[in-house]
Amino acid sequence: MKGIANTIKIGIVLWLVLSLIPLAYYFHLTNKAHQFYISRLEAQGLQFLAYVDSKARRTDSQIQQTFYELSHSTLLHDFAINRDSQFRHYLESQWYLTAFNSTLFYQLRFIDNRGYEVIRVDYMPNMAHPYIVPNDLLQNKSNRDYFLYAQRLANGELGHYGIDLEIENDKPIMPYKPGYRIIYPIVANSVRQGYFIANLDVLTIIEQITTNTHNINVDFIDKNGYYIISSDRSKLFGDLIQDRSNSNLATDNTELWSAIQQNQSAGNSVQTDDGLYVYQRFSSQLFGSENTLTMLTMYPNSTITELLSDRKTQLKIEAVIIWLGLGIFSVIASMFMDAYRRIKTDQTYAEYAIENSMAVVVTDKNMKILRVNTSFCHLVNSDLSLLLGGNIADFLPSKTKQNLIQRQLSIRGNWQGHFPLHTTDNKEVICQTEIHAITGKLRNIQYYVYSFTDISEHHNTIITLKERTERDPATSLWNKKKFDQNLQYQCRLKQRYTDHPPFCLAVVDIDCFKKINDTFGHTVGDEVILYIANQLRTVLRDTDFIARIGGDEFAVLIQHADIEQAKTLMQRVSTDISNWTLYDVTISVGLAEVTSDANQTFTNADQAMYRSKRKGRNCISIHGKETLSILESNSP
Ligand code: GH3
Ligand code: MG
Repeated sequence: MKGIANTIKIGIVLWLVLSLIPLAYYFHLTNKAHQFYISRLEAQGLQFLAYVDSKARRTDSQIQQTFYELSHSTLLHDFAINRDSQFRHYLESQWYLTAFNSTLFYQLRFIDNRGYEVIRVDYMPNMAHPYIVPNDLLQNKSNRDYFLYAQRLANGELGHYGIDLEIENDKPIMPYKPGYRIIYPIVANSVRQGYFIANLDVLTIIEQITTNTHNINVDFIDKNGYYIISSDRSKLFGDLIQDRSNSNLATDNTELWSAIQQNQSAGNSVQTDDGLYVYQRFSSQLFGSENTLTMLTMYPNSTITELLSDRKTQLKIEAVIIWLGLGIFSVIASMFMDAYRRIKTDQTYAEYAIENSMAVVVTDKNMKILRVNTSFCHLVNSDLSLLLGGNIADFLPSKTKQNLIQRQLSIRGNWQGHFPLHTTDNKEVICQTEIHAITGKLRNIQYYVYSFTDISEHHNTIITLKERTERDPATSLWNKKKFDQNLQYQCRLKQRYTDHPPFCLAVVDIDCFKKINDTFGHTVGDEVILYIANQLRTVLRDTDFIARIGGDEFAVLIQHADIEQAKTLMQRVSTDISNWTLYDVTISVGLAEVTSDANQTFTNADQAMYRSKRKGRNCISIHGKETLSILESNSP
């Protein structure tokens, strides 16, 4: 569980770090798309302004042509001289038609030298057809600036009186209306007769040249920053109308204005907080404005945002897909990192073990030997070439023990303990053993690493020490303590298993041993004790249990023997001892069948032995039965 949590943790951290990639991707491409749309809008804007400019040029030449024809007509000159009413009528008709057809002129006039209107044809955009102004409505324009300007013109000189507010009867036309006048002095018979003045309908002309399907507005800014033409009518003529004097681009948008000033000739764009401004010089001579007006169009931020929104959505989807992809990548990468880390750890462990003096074996999951070090070769007394490819199970303990080990390995991944390792020359070496199961990505076991440490010497020392506490040092028979333990154990077996085979206890005591000591000395006494011990060992079976339980006293547990069989056996022991030729030695024996009560069993046998003493020694007494003389028994 800890491993999984760690893998998840690494995966999440990796994912968070990698999340910067889709973020950077999104912002970078959004920025690029923004730049792309800006440059596209700039190109579109400049293209549009160039189109407006060329259209203006065409309109200008059309106006110039018409103006030339009207101002140089013979009819006008003839009328200027004689003021013939018929001519007047013709002129009015001609101008009526011209105004009606061209729609660009909203006033065509002939003003005499004093400043009085003589003929005037009006054609406002709101009129169905031109209007020939009756004589009684003609006005005196002698004090208007443009008339004073006209008077200063030389003969044959074409005058352009800049864009101005239209004034009727000394009051500006409301709503304010920009007018532009072209003036030509009419000279006949070398005498100036008056002036032909054509008023251009600035708003209509501008509307005509700027009409577009995209509804893009164009402002015309003069060299002082005032709006001569603007989609925002409230800004118009800031230089002419007192309460609009603040409507000036130079003060409204200094950033844009300074950019316009720096790029006097070429078209360009500036991006401000409001949006993208695209501007270009108005190069047409229309309105006599050559290089004095700047065309300005603007794409508000909302237009750019709208253009960008689809691309942004698309980029968002792409970024999310990349982000999710990186999430999957992070999970896989963290799993690999975790697996790599664990394999690295296991490898380090294995290398460590290999480098150490321990005997190490690496096997696959089927216990086939893959790697083995020289210490192991020495331990099992074999060659590396013979061991590789073999099966470690051949060296391990019984199948049952192996199954137990295998179970723990599959649960805990490791096992520790000691067991005898079988060598190739059929010996057993007691080894302290560690086994580690190395798992793969799916936690399935892939390898086992076995390490063995030979502890047989240590093991034998322990066994020897243990035996010493249980053996009599003089005779190597079991001691009294071990006898008591064994008797207790045997009696418990008897108690538990009713069908336990019969067995007996014999208590043996050397007769008059003191006398031997006294007569021959303790060394002989020791020799006698050793002799008795050997005789007991020789006559009795390996499975019988012989102990020295006192100075000259012994006890024997005779396995699988009833009292009669035990009696026969002890008779043989007694006879052999009494037949010893070196010293005259006899023993007294007490026999009892082993019951479930250890104390009682011993008391029974001991009392029988004392009975033998009382009966004169060198005989066998059976608990609950008669005493048997050895001599008697030997006699036929
Ligand atoms: P009984 O026939 O009644 O048994 O007479 P006994 O002389 O054998 O008397 P007892 O069994 O009481 O005496 C045992 C003697 O054995 C006493 C002790 O000095 C002697 N003895 C005990 N242990 C040893 C030993 O290890 N070596 C020798 N040499 N003598 C021992
Ligand atoms: Mg004795």
